[in-house]
Amino acid sequence: MAYCASRFHTVRRITREVRVGSVAVGGSNPIRIQSMTTSDTQDVAATVRQSVALAEVGCEIVRVTAPNVQAARCLKDIRAGLTAAGWGAVPLVADIHFLPQAAMEAVEHVEKVRVNPGNYADKKRFAVRDYSDADYGRELQRLHEAFSPLVKRSKELGRSMRIGTNHGSLSDRIMNRYGDTPLGMVESALEFLRIAESHGYREIILSMKSSNPKVMIEAYRLLVQRMDAEDMHYPLHLGVTEAGDGDDGRIKGAIGIGSLLLDGLGDTVRVSLTEDSVYEIPVARAIADKAMSLWRGAAPDGPRSDSVDPYHFVRRGTAALQLATGADVGPGQPPRVIVRIAGAGQAAGALKELSSPRLKETPAEGLLVPVATVAEIGALRAAFRAAPGSVCFLVLELAPGLGAAEVEASLAEAEGRIVLLRRFGGGEGAALAQWAGLARRTGHLIAVDASARDIAGLAGALKAVGDDRLIVTYSGVPLTGIDHPVGAYRRIVEELLAAGIGAPVWIRSTAGTAVRGDNSFLSRLIEASFLTGSLLCDGVGDLVSIETESDAARAARLAYNVLQGAGARISKAEFVACPSCGRTLFDLQATTQRIRAQTAHLKGVKIAIMGCIVNGPGEMADADFGYVGGAPGKINLYVGKQCIQYNVPQSDADARLIALIKEHNKWAEPEPARA
Ligand code: SF4
Repeated sequence: MAYCASRFHTVRRITREVRVGSVAVGGSNPIRIQSMTTSDTQDVAATVRQSVALAEVGCEIVRVTAPNVQAARCLKDIRAGLTAAGWGAVPLVADIHFLPQAAMEAVEHVEKVRVNPGNYADKKRFAVRDYSDADYGRELQRLHEAFSPLVKRSKELGRSMRIGTNHGSLSDRIMNRYGDTPLGMVESALEFLRIAESHGYREIILSMKSSNPKVMIEAYRLLVQRMDAEDMHYPLHLGVTEAGDGDDGRIKGAIGIGSLLLDGLGDTVRVSLTEDSVYEIPVARAIADKAMSLWRGAAPDGPRSDSVDPYHFVRRGTAALQLATGADVGPGQPPRVIVRIAGAGQAAGALKELSSPRLKETPAEGLLVPVATVAEIGALRAAFRAAPGSVCFLVLELAPGLGAAEVEASLAEAEGRIVLLRRFGGGEGAALAQWAGLARRTGHLIAVDASARDIAGLAGALKAVGDDRLIVTYSGVPLTGIDHPVGAYRRIVEELLAAGIGAPVWIRSTAGTAVRGDNSFLSRLIEASFLTGSLLCDGVGDLVSIETESDAARAARLAYNVLQGAGARISKAEFVACPSCGRTLFDLQATTQRIRAQTAHLKGVKIAIMGCIVNGPGEMADADFGYVGGAPGKINLYVGKQCIQYNVPQSDADARLIALIKEHNKWAEPEPARA
């Protein structure tokens, strides 16, 4: 069953409107931006200051943690302080884990309460045991009794609520029956939703967060599908939790949130960053504005969905292409990275820069160069010969005026395989056949840049090229009411499938495939995350290029960061770090940076740094090692899901973490330059 009106156009999902104080979420309202304070909630002045700072930069809803009843009582003064500062219209949300008593206090003072269905009425004590149907029924009855008072009081006071499921903190009951799966996350929320509905209470917003964008995307889609089946139309709060900081945190957030917004899902967003929360707001704003620019009332006639299973990741099968030693493309190969430069005249400088040892883990494998004359091809080949380095194949972006015969002559005795990239219209089958003949005679490859409609027109000629020398790509045209860029690529994949063509697909982030590009690095990062990240999470993409970034080294790094964010190619250590909140037991930003400085070179190792144990152990489910606040000044160290060392003094924790990494044979000494 479909979870959205169209996989090609952004048709906004219709939801009920839920009021969070004076801010309405869902319905016909714009996407609302929200964030969370990180101060100790009982430090009322600091929390008011942070709330004001967030409101001043455009945060529309502010969340504050309420870890206990005393903190929940402080929300009254925080509410008053924020109002006194002139921000009475900005609603406050109490964030509750574990303690129904804290929720009952908080609901008296703030406009909305967030509960985590994984721990509202359950202790974390995962024990493997089977729940019989009768056991499960008794658990649900216990849940009903624990949750109903909050529902009834919220209804009386006109408060709204978020049922906020986290992948990392599912209840034992759910874990035993469904595992830590998207389905388990959805069932966890539905249990609470049904209790709320049994009291006629519907002022509810839902979230399905995970630190893994793929899990989060699948969980939200599944939730919507299940809600539609039960005629439920609640708004969605979107977020990737524990995303970390810097570009990596922004990329993970943009991939997860962006994918869903392009599908038309999502009514309020939070970009979690392990940075001061005010830095989350411009990122969330940019993501929301881009997505809202795509909103349309209905999808045009024609197919609304594609052959991708949106609930289970499977990488699209393709033919294997032999491009260059160490840079094959297709099954079992990671997506290859191509960097574009402005012209053959820049090639020598770019090749030198790209072979720098500091780019060892993020090598540009292909160099894409626009060429308008055969003389430029000669100059480019000479530069390539003279600078052997990480780049192992050339891609020639052929100007439309270049003829196949003159290009063929310029390719004699080429060094390695060359990819000939050319744009083809749907009626250019004969021209494509001519270029395919050239490719066969010279042993090179053809990359066909075409829209889905043109692919349909070229199907016969494409088939004749053969999957072993064909790459398909799309550099886009400015969007004018047609598919969104991810949809444009999805249609291309469908056309290839229909024609029985298994050619690899090259995802190109260009001005033409941007939703709404501008000249900032943030915009380029978000656009690349939307397009490349969303498609990679669909299982599509064998080569990638971020062509909106003109600096070659930065373009390569950005491409690798997006690949890592989507889990498609790992080039460095990964850090899962919570954004911190009033529960945080140490300086999360400084600690994350310190640990990163010591371990960033451990390619493929995943380290979680979590401020407390609320989400900590759960969110670390797929991390190799964890550094979790256990008590003030004390750290718990994990290997996988298992706590190995409790209450390590913080001053020793870094060294003990590194010792654990060594014990488990995941350590490598940093290279001398780095050390
Ligand atoms: S894991 Fe971090 S953000 Fe989550 S509750 Fe704990 S300290 Fe707060």
